[in-house]
Amino acid sequence: MGFFMPTKVLYGQDIVIKNREIFQSLGDKFLIVTGKSSKVNGSLDDVLDVLDGKHVYIFDETPENPALEIISGIAESYSDVDVVIGLGGGSPMDTAKAVAVILENPQLNVEELYDKTKYNSAKPIICIPTTAGTGSEVTQYSVLTVNGRKKGFSHDCIFPKISFVDYKYTMTLNRELTLSTALDALSHAMEGYLSLKATPFSDAFSMESMKIIKTILPRLLDDPENEYYRERIAFASTLAGMVIAQTGTTIAHALGYPLTTEKGVKHGLATAIFLPYEVKIAKRYEYTKVDDILSLFEGSLHDFFRSLNVNLGVTITDEEINLWAKIVSSASHLAVTPGKYDFETIKEAYKETLGYFNLL
Ligand code: ZN
Repeated sequence: MGFFMPTKVLYGQDIVIKNREIFQSLGDKFLIVTGKSSKVNGSLDDVLDVLDGKHVYIFDETPENPALEIISGIAESYSDVDVVIGLGGGSPMDTAKAVAVILENPQLNVEELYDKTKYNSAKPIICIPTTAGTGSEVTQYSVLTVNGRKKGFSHDCIFPKISFVDYKYTMTLNRELTLSTALDALSHAMEGYLSLKATPFSDAFSMESMKIIKTILPRLLDDPENEYYRERIAFASTLAGMVIAQTGTTIAHALGYPLTTEKGVKHGLATAIFLPYEVKIAKRYEYTKVDDILSLFEGSLHDFFRSLNVNLGVTITDEEINLWAKIVSSASHLAVTPGKYDFETIKEAYKETLGYFNLL
């Protein structure tokens, strides 16, 4: 067992502005991959400030759940850069990682991102999260959408070189994004805790992350301008990212992906609703770590979700469940999830979960 997470994490209030000399020392030409919200939350101003005097290109059109096809266009438009900065939520950070690989290896087709034998290096990646949930700032993963399905690739060369985590960029997140991103972090922590690849190192981070989210998230939703709560959730999110860098995610993520790509349900919400089912199956197979989770959540994850007023607002048909269950049956997540999941079990996971949340 071991622990590998080679990203230097700089954490705290005003952490970007306080490290101007690091940004200045990284190179001459920078590409900032971001979305529109970085103009609103203050993060883009901070980054432009510390890059004063450098050549800076900004790609600010990163969509939610970016498709693989956009990567080559971005790489072609900004072929001449030294450093790629992912600024935003998971979508800009994961896009930045993929672009950094293509910029360093221009001979690659974007499809070859998924074949880790084809490349060994990427342009230096800097990540600055402005949501609290994806954990992408401390992982070797990039999840893009390929042919309408979420598909991640992983490579040690896309661990960011440095990540700057400042909760203040999350202060302007609305309730929906605050909830869904925090639930993504909860999913990472809990799935990582249950993962067959968990280690005592990752478990320590998982447990701390779950405890913070359990205690603080309901309070934050009631008091969204509370800086202490925002900071705690940002910390829990980064911890949970460090967990999945060790363990990967498990079946709740695989089950949630179609809800996001087909129904537009936010990623974290789409995965977290399947946690009670994953826990139930692990319990059925007498996986004793489940008891730690149940005791933390006082016996019922459903009660926790009810207290957060989780509401998805979509309906799902039987045909969709059949199709999705077929896809999930072949997901790599199954190999690291405790318990056995055949087609019928996966269908039941959908029916039971979606029934509970009144979506059928
Ligand atoms: Zn996730």
